[in-house]
Amino acid sequence: MINNKKISKFAISIIEKLKRNKYQGYLVGGCVRDLLCGIEPKDFDIATNATPEQVRKVFKASRIIGKRFKLVHIFNRSELIEVATFRAGEEKNNQGELIKDQSGKIIRDNIWGNLDQDTYRRDFTVNALYYCPISKKIIGHKDGIKDINQKKIVSIGDPQHRFSEDPVRSLRAIRFSNKLNFKIDKKIKEAIYEKGHLLSNISNARIFDEFCKIFLNGMAEKNFNKLNSFGLNKFLITTEPKVNKFSHNVIFEALRNTDRRLKNNQSVTPGFLIAALLWPNLINRSLTKGEINLRKFFRSMDPVLRNQQKITAIPRKFHSYIKDIWILQLKLHSRIGKQPYKTLKHPRFRAAYDLMLIREKCSCETKNLGKWWTDFQKNDDKLKKLLISSLKEKDMQESFKTFGFSKELI
Ligand code: ATP
Ligand code: MG
Repeated sequence: MINNKKISKFAISIIEKLKRNKYQGYLVGGCVRDLLCGIEPKDFDIATNATPEQVRKVFKASRIIGKRFKLVHIFNRSELIEVATFRAGEEKNNQGELIKDQSGKIIRDNIWGNLDQDTYRRDFTVNALYYCPISKKIIGHKDGIKDINQKKIVSIGDPQHRFSEDPVRSLRAIRFSNKLNFKIDKKIKEAIYEKGHLLSNISNARIFDEFCKIFLNGMAEKNFNKLNSFGLNKFLITTEPKVNKFSHNVIFEALRNTDRRLKNNQSVTPGFLIAALLWPNLINRSLTKGEINLRKFFRSMDPVLRNQQKITAIPRKFHSYIKDIWILQLKLHSRIGKQPYKTLKHPRFRAAYDLMLIREKCSCETKNLGKWWTDFQKNDDKLKKLLISSLKEKDMQESFKTFGFSKELI
């Protein structure tokens, strides 16, 4: 049923080597699921009965990572494969540790087990299939293949319990249902409503990882809508689309823009998306009587970032990147003398220009700033000068004061 040609040769070589060393090794989870659904897997995960330390000994180019959930990364020049040791359930076992907090959330999950036990530690039946590329057999959860055929996301065990153990499973259920076009089982829906609030207990680093998987996978808008229907977006983004029309428009435009870029094989970064998604927050905080107050604008940048960081970590390297993009929005409006040349040379110009285009799409009162900058970038020096001189003082002042968006949106 699975064509080995679609599988990473490196992953297969790892399984072969595990076997030569008398360990078990299987492809597992998302890659098996995706191959059965006719989707190209984005990565290949391996499960084994060897402990992380044993795996580490067999593979020189490897490293043990994680504390809550220990794994081994095995790498070659171009690929990185994650190898997980089979986990056991909650039965007593003194080989490792499974620790929960008061809400039932697992804070450490390192009890080793066998393949059968491992199957029941996975989240959904469709994610609990194991494939051996040598025997070409698929084993694992008895309902896995059936649920793939019936296009259903079904929890392994009671989802109320499983989502308390790990609230991120709520987000995963939604993401997989959109990615695969599968229905979410009714019991899972109920558990999302009941246990979704536990997402506020998850570390901001883990939520940031999930944020990237949800919004940088080509289905940002669809995922946002489904998350909204379960009231879960507030655990990922601090901007509320309901605050005003402007917030709503910017959020959706930013998500659509990300989806479009991925479709066209253009690069995307979480930094840009966060800059765009938080823009309405920054504006709403900077307004005085419908006009931008520059002092408030500059003072609000850090608090707006900090609020978002409480829920999703934002890697350090993106902080100045995001602020640069925001500050450049102001610079894009001032088109006097040498300023446009300086703005154009800024290393973040391209990203700032992209955000400006998003803003312009969201405002009914277009000042043609986007077109002006598109022309300015394209043209030679003579025409550049002409573009600058063609601007009327009055237009400039007006555009700067209202910042190019209409007051009635706010
Ligand atoms: P994708 O890579 O497309 O996001 P995936 O299913 O491979 O999907 P991963 O996060 O790579 O997702 O995880 C690999 C496998 O590990 C999953 O298929 C699942 O079996 C298991 N898994 C991952 N996260 C969890 C979790 N939070 N709870 C239980 N099992 C999990
Ligand atoms: Mg995966």
